[in-house]
Amino acid sequence: MSFNHLGLRTELMRAVSAQNYATPTPIQIQAIPAILMGKDVLAGAQTGTGKTAAFTLPILQMLHASSNGNRSHPRALVITPTRELAAQVHESIKTYGKYLPLRSTVVFGGVGFRPQATRLKKGVDVLVATPGRLLDHAKQRTVDLSKVEFLVLDEADRMLNMGFMPDVRRIINLLPKKRQNLLFSATYVPEIQKLADALLTDPARIQVSPRKNAATDLVTQKVYPVARSKKRALLSHLIRTEKWDRALVFTRTKRGADRLTKQLVREGVSTQSIHGDKSQSARTRALADFKQGKVRILVATDIAARGLDISELPRVVNYDIPQVPEDYVHRIGRTGRAGSNGVAISLVCSDEGELLTAIEQVLQHQIPIEVIEGFRDDARQKPRPAVKPAATPTAERAARPMRPGRRPASGRRGRRR
Ligand code: AMP
Repeated sequence: MSFNHLGLRTELMRAVSAQNYATPTPIQIQAIPAILMGKDVLAGAQTGTGKTAAFTLPILQMLHASSNGNRSHPRALVITPTRELAAQVHESIKTYGKYLPLRSTVVFGGVGFRPQATRLKKGVDVLVATPGRLLDHAKQRTVDLSKVEFLVLDEADRMLNMGFMPDVRRIINLLPKKRQNLLFSATYVPEIQKLADALLTDPARIQVSPRKNAATDLVTQKVYPVARSKKRALLSHLIRTEKWDRALVFTRTKRGADRLTKQLVREGVSTQSIHGDKSQSARTRALADFKQGKVRILVATDIAARGLDISELPRVVNYDIPQVPEDYVHRIGRTGRAGSNGVAISLVCSDEGELLTAIEQVLQHQIPIEVIEGFRDDARQKPRPAVKPAATPTAERAARPMRPGRRPASGRRGRRR
């Protein structure tokens, strides 16, 4: 299948060629024709599958076909859970639409309201937004959503987890009844199904391989057993001895991210952090510096890193093991993207053994363990249990000690990261 068969106009094909995309991804093959036919879409697809182009290309095509040059109201609205994802989707829209006379903009919290209002006033065809700031604009009447023809809910499950559904419902109430709706979600929990039932009319249902398959194919995963008190020393050791040029390091908390960043900087490793307490401009700057290679290590919490697309990221480190197994899959999906290989490293201390087991159950295989002498907590780390359903543990793995620890606190909603 080539892009020629998807019915896209020349300007969009040129933009796709400029990105050097050889063939459409599975989500693009299925979603683009359905959207062009005017159908609602319910897509199970995660970041990294090419879903942004899958909804952007046909929307741009249809907006252009029916454009009368009036930009006083947005005609397409894309809602995303995080600021980073909003910024990234907006970049993609600009990239794919660069040969069409359509205008897009993005609004999210943490940055000035007025400049956004000014941009909205100048006119916009496609608006990308996070829910809270979009509602602020609607309340202040700096945006009028009554002419939206296309609504995209991107990463709907994450919006649900972050508690944004009431805001999303308020936004939907501001939209005209007649419109095309596209809902993208990595998982279908009952609440998402309920939302889909209320929002979509006879949708095309599309499911592309869950990210974990792609992740396990393209990402080499490793577990390093380590004493909690020696995690930072082990990380420094790996950075130094393996001469890491770039790594995205995940911590569980914002304080943990700050502490680790300070310690690495003290050791002379150029490091910055992104998390929810940082101003948006600091987050954007840190990400840009990391992408340009000015910073070697970017320390992040899950929410700040959600949806980040950093090309050629060779290494992701789980400095703290995520409490929710799916977060592991999202984290390691930051590397090994668009066909390139990556390494995902987890520093696991004794009380994280049970979290590791939960992750391995989701992956349905054990992650190979590598021991670096001098960093392990020998007294506490005992053999870990088998994974069910399990890949056969190798003799080598069985010989390496891990110990299940306490259960994590249940639930993650409301936890500040
Ligand atoms: P997304 O899932 O939209 O975040 O896209 C993930 C990455 O895949 C982005 O870096 C895109 O530039 C890239 N991408 C999207 N479509 C294609 C394609 N057809 N071929 C190769 N890469 C693509």
